[in-house]
Amino acid sequence: MTTTPAVPAPTGPAGGPALPQRRKLVTAIPGPKSQELMARKQAAVADGVGTVMPVFVERAGGGIVQDVDGNALIDFGSGIAVTSVGNSAEAVVRRAAEQLSRFTHTCAMVTPYEGYVEVCEELARLTPGDHAKKSALFNSGAEAVENAVKIARYATGRQAVVVFEHGYHGRTNLTMALTAKNMPYKHGFGPFAPEIHRVPVAYPFRWLTGPEHCAEEAAAQVVDQISKQIGAQNTAAIVIEPLLGEGGFIEPARGFLPRLAAFAREHGIVFVADEIQSGFCRTGQWFACEDENVVPDLITTAKGIAGGLPLSAVTGRAEIMDAAHAGGLGGTYGGNPVACAAALGAIETMRELDLNARARRIEEIMKPRLAELAGRYETIGEVRGRGAMLAVELVRPGGGREPDPEATAAVARYCHGQGLLVLTCGTYGNVLRFLPPLVIGEDLLAEGLDILETAFATLSAPVGRR
Ligand SMILES: *Cc1c(COP(=O)(O)O)cnc(C)c1O
Repeated sequence: MTTTPAVPAPTGPAGGPALPQRRKLVTAIPGPKSQELMARKQAAVADGVGTVMPVFVERAGGGIVQDVDGNALIDFGSGIAVTSVGNSAEAVVRRAAEQLSRFTHTCAMVTPYEGYVEVCEELARLTPGDHAKKSALFNSGAEAVENAVKIARYATGRQAVVVFEHGYHGRTNLTMALTAKNMPYKHGFGPFAPEIHRVPVAYPFRWLTGPEHCAEEAAAQVVDQISKQIGAQNTAAIVIEPLLGEGGFIEPARGFLPRLAAFAREHGIVFVADEIQSGFCRTGQWFACEDENVVPDLITTAKGIAGGLPLSAVTGRAEIMDAAHAGGLGGTYGGNPVACAAALGAIETMRELDLNARARRIEEIMKPRLAELAGRYETIGEVRGRGAMLAVELVRPGGGREPDPEATAAVARYCHGQGLLVLTCGTYGNVLRFLPPLVIGEDLLAEGLDILETAFATLSAPVGRR
């Protein structure tokens, strides 16, 4: 089995043997060693920390995750859109290791270091717009979103924050308030932060009057709610994922984002694009908002930014980013030097392997096969997404659009049993999402799709066939 010529086979740690890019099942899933570890997890780890697939990992790289029992799984999840450059990517390991050997931490607010500045310089270059930009670095996506809200409130002197149905922004108190879905993210964890207002998103598949006028109608509702209920002059920020992630890989109808951005500009509202899941080559662009030439005032990034090390950022217009007083932003670990080195290695890899082109190639391979499946099985209501951020939404048979979370879970379970790591998402739990590492070999991609096809063939009752 070979990877495509564009992508060199991943090397092992410290130049050791590469992890074979082959699916291999040597035990049932989960195997005995994973089961033993799962028992220890149950005894030692809080139940609130869930598990999608109960296998424990030994190694990972390229398109493969290898478990402690020796099973090699095809990775269609990338640790939730994080390891876009692959696990232990050569440049990430090289740069992070070099940094580890020099110093591990000083606190960027105490005595700064070059890597932090270099990451901010890269963010200024890579994010949309040619205006003057600045960044601040943090650890997690939620922390970046929290800080984007802090910055927008400070810069505008306003308090209200507008977010969207099906939006996901994290699990801290403020970001839970920004997040739409109750279970599992918010249930029992209130009270939530005030001054958060939720408005409709242009979700073509579920727009009541159909997809044709979805963008205009949804934007009109948003404008009306902000103008009449919240007050544009009270609104600090509009925060939206240009391609919604956890809420179901929803692509807002074309025209919706530009309308929102224009309204925000007109009323001095800070337009924040949360590109934590969709950013860094995932959709075949550096950032998903580029597809509609939307230039956000602030952009939040994390996940794919550093090849698996914890790092996040808020990047945006210099005058907005500079509004807060010195000492007002930061954190002990924000922009940790090892994480910054890893980010520079990840960005180097994205450029060198042209991972935007790889993401588009993944779409070219996957989308037609998913569309073919949708033609065959009535349970697939829609195929959507861009680049290597693709999904199918499952509905109950019968021609309606009633969500089918049970079928979705069954397909995912079947795939897991066959050694294909897939994730689900969606407000209704009825979306299968595909987030392969952008360096995955085309043979593994095809094999993963074969497994998915078999899953639908095996699980679809005759009534589920078109
Ligand atoms: C994952 C995610 C977050 C939260 O990031 P964490 O690192 O888990 O805190 C925020 N916004 C979006 C769009 C995400 O996908």
